Amino acid sequence: MAGKSLSLPTVLQQELICELCEEIYSTPKVLPCLHTFCQDCLEERAKENESFDCPVCEARTELTPETVNQMPENTAILALCDRIHNQAVMPELVLDSEEEEEAKYFTNCDTHENEKLQLYCVQCKAPACTECLDEIHAGHRMMTLRKALDDRKAAITAFVTRGKDLIENYCSFLAGLRETEKSLHEQKQQAEGSIIQAYEQMIKKLTDTKETMLRDVNTKHQQNLQAIRQTRDPMLTEVYELAVTCDAVKENLEQTRAEFNDREKHLIHVVGMVTEKVARAPTPLPTPPLTPLHVAPLTPQRQEWDT
Ligand SMILES: [Zn+2]
Ligand SMILES: [Zn+2]
Ligand SMILES: [Zn+2]
Ligand SMILES: [Zn+2]
Repeated sequence: MAGKSLSLPTVLQQELICELCEEIYSTPKVLPCLHTFCQDCLEERAKENESFDCPVCEARTELTPETVNQMPENTAILALCDRIHNQAVMPELVLDSEEEEEAKYFTNCDTHENEKLQLYCVQCKAPACTECLDEIHAGHRMMTLRKALDDRKAAITAFVTRGKDLIENYCSFLAGLRETEKSLHEQKQQAEGSIIQAYEQMIKKLTDTKETMLRDVNTKHQQNLQAIRQTRDPMLTEVYELAVTCDAVKENLEQTRAEFNDREKHLIHVVGMVTEKVARAPTPLPTPPLTPLHVAPLTPQRQEWDT
């Protein structure tokens, strides 16, 4: 801490002390998080580590000696700290004790060396002796020096008391600001926490919905494949049989046999059957019963956020 001649209120000291070195700031620099630290302290941290976590608000700042240099100075704090530093090295003021101060006044008059200064001229604001009363202070309002000193002491004491009251008011206001800053910081952390929580809930919900929808599409697709297979497989047999029978009958015809043999009868039967089937169907060939893959759009729901 600064010199022993200083008796700053604790709240004021708190505002002027760097949290890193716990001394009165030297060249205070303002970080992007708006908290202030000594340039030297920040440069030291920059040498150790590229990123710096603010001890007040935990905000992370990338630090290099250059960025520290470019950070703005906290000019108000700088001016105040300079005054304190200067005051700290100033020789201590030797304050007169009450008796010594009074002795200074109750001496003999400079003009009338044999007369003691016992009076005080209100108009000239100066001590006087009884001889002065008829000369330079003729017609001036006078009072005893004792009364004048007492009045002055009372007036000064009243001012000091008033000053101390003001200091107390300021200090409690400053302490309040500090508390407000702390609670704002807590509120910010809470807000961030609930945003992250809501985000994670939404992500989980979306992921669940995605999985369910993908599963559903897959199931329907399998059903469609199954339907296609059930339509195609018997048709393959029919086509095969028709082809084989056609070939065989054609071969027989080339051998010019007169009557229908079994194969020919079978061909007539199969062709008749297929022809009838095709004629019955609304389309030339039966279509498998397919399931449409209706998919609802995957949109996040906001109601959890809004509450
Ligand atoms: Zn410091
Ligand atoms: Zn900070
Ligand atoms: Zn005199
Ligand atoms: Zn006078």
